[in-house]
Amino acid sequence: MAQSNSQSANGSSESVETRLFINGEFQPSSDGKQFSLINPFTQESMAEVSQASEEDTNKAVTAAKAAFPAWRDRSPSDRGAYLRKLRDLIRESNDEFARLEALSTGKPVSSYFDANLAADMFSYFSEAGWTVQGSSSLNTPGYFNMTIRQPYGVVACIIPWNVPMGFFALKVAPALAAGNTVVLKSSEKAPLTSALAARLIAKIGFPPGVINVLSGFGTPSGSTLAHHMDVRCISFTGSSFTGQKIQAAAAASNLKIVHMELGGKSPALIFDDADLESAAQQTQFSIQMQSGQACMANSRVYVQESVAEKFLALFKEKFGAGARLGNPLEPATSHGPQVDVLQYERVKSYLSIGEKDGKLSMGGDARDGYFIKPTVFENVPEDSRLAKEEVFGPVVVINTFKTEDEAIEKANASEFGLYASVFTKDIDRAVRASKLLEGGTVGVNCTSPTFALDMPFGGFKMSGIGREGYAHSLDNYLETKTILIKTSS
Ligand code: NAD
Repeated sequence: MAQSNSQSANGSSESVETRLFINGEFQPSSDGKQFSLINPFTQESMAEVSQASEEDTNKAVTAAKAAFPAWRDRSPSDRGAYLRKLRDLIRESNDEFARLEALSTGKPVSSYFDANLAADMFSYFSEAGWTVQGSSSLNTPGYFNMTIRQPYGVVACIIPWNVPMGFFALKVAPALAAGNTVVLKSSEKAPLTSALAARLIAKIGFPPGVINVLSGFGTPSGSTLAHHMDVRCISFTGSSFTGQKIQAAAAASNLKIVHMELGGKSPALIFDDADLESAAQQTQFSIQMQSGQACMANSRVYVQESVAEKFLALFKEKFGAGARLGNPLEPATSHGPQVDVLQYERVKSYLSIGEKDGKLSMGGDARDGYFIKPTVFENVPEDSRLAKEEVFGPVVVINTFKTEDEAIEKANASEFGLYASVFTKDIDRAVRASKLLEGGTVGVNCTSPTFALDMPFGGFKMSGIGREGYAHSLDNYLETKTILIKTSS
C-alpha cells in the first residue's frame, strides 16, 4: 500500500500520504489501525489515516535515539543545508498544503498562511545553529572554566490542528538546528499536512531517524511520548487540559523538560479615546479569523461605557461583513466550518450558556453543516462559563467598564494569560496597562494575530510554560554544561 485515496470537496479523487514515517520509511501502523478523517464541509470521509500504536511510537523514539549521535556531530552548516532544502520544498508545495488543510480542517484557502510561515522558520533556523555558544570564566584561581550548550537527544513535538505546519516548523526547525532528533505527532484532526511534510523530508533524504512523523491520537501515541524514558524534552502546543496531562506524565516518568503553548481567553480593552474604527476592525478580525479557532483570539472585549453603543455598532457591522461562509476551497470564502462535529457541538454548548447567562445580540448557529455565524454576546456575567472558558469558535463576549482599574481587574480575572490588548490614545495609560495586564503578549492599539517573529511568544498562567520565537526557540532545545579545567599554575 503506497498511499490512500482522498475524496476532495469538489468530487475529484487525489492521492495523499496517510502513513507513518519512521526511520526514513513510510509504513502502516503495526496493528493495522486507521482512523477516518471527515471533511467538515461535506461531512464525508476523505481519508483513512494510519493510527500510531504504542509499538510504533516506541519504534520512532528508538530510531530518533539511534540517529542522534551522528546528527549532533554534524556542523551547523551541514544540518542547515537540509533545513534549507525543506524550506524550498514547503514553499513550492504551498497550494497542496492549503488544499489539504481546507479539506481536512475547513480552513479557507483564501487565508492560508501556514506553509509560508513554516518555510520562514526553516529558513531562519537553517542559519541559527552557529549562534549556539557557551561562556568562559577565569574567576576561580587555578581553573579555566567554561560552559557548552548541547542538544538533549530525542525531542518529542506534539502539535494541534489549527495551524499545523506553523507549529510543525516552530518546533522541528530549532530542535534539529540545535542537533536534536525528533519524533513529531500530528493532531488526529489534521494529519495530512504533516504527512506531506514527511514526504518532502524523504525526498530530500534526511538521514533516517532524524525526523519521524506519527499520526494518531493522544492515547496511545501522545501519551507514550510524554511518558517515554528516552524522550528528554517535549514541546507541546494544544489545550491547557492536555498540557496538564503531559506535564504530569513528564513528572511521573523522567522529569523531561516541558515547553508548552496552551489555550487563551484573551481580553481587548477599548477606552473612550481610542480610534474606534480601527479598534472595531482589528478586534472583529481577531475573533473571526479561522472561524475563531485561534489560541490568541480576543474572545473577550471590554469597552468603556460611554462609547459602548458606537463601538458595538461598528464591531457588528464589520464582523458580519467580513464573514463569507462557504466552501473552504473557494477563493471567495473567508469563513469555514468548525473543524469537526466535536468542535461544532462544543461551540453550540457555549451558545446555550450565553443565551441563558447573557444577551445574544448577533449570530449563533448557522444551522448549516458545522458553521457557526459570527456571534456576539453582551452583558455576560464575569463568572459565566462563557466569559471564563475557551470556546474556540467565532464567539465574542463584549462587556462594558467604567474605569481603568475596573477594566484591568476584569481582564486579569482569568486563569489564561496568552495575549491582551489595549486601545487608547493616552500613552501613560497604554504603558500602565501594558505593565499590569497578565499576558505573554500585550498589543497597544493592535491585537492578535499581530505578533513579531523575533519576539518571544508564550503564555502567563495556564496559557503556557516558556517562550518560542526566532531569538528564543533554540534555547528550548539545549542543555548547558559547565566544564572545570584545573590548570597547573
Ligand atoms: P488538544 O490539547 O486537544 O490536542 C493537541 C495535541 O495533543 C494533539 O496532537 C492531540 O492528539 C495531543 N494529545 C491529546 N491528549 C494527549 C495526551 N494525553 N498526551 C499527549 N498528547 C495528547 O488541542 P487541539 O484541540 O488540537 O488544539 C486547540 C488548543 O490548542 C486550544 O486550546 C488552543 O488555544 C491551543 N493552541 C495554543 C497555541 C499557543 O501558541 N498558545 C497555538 C495554537 C493552539
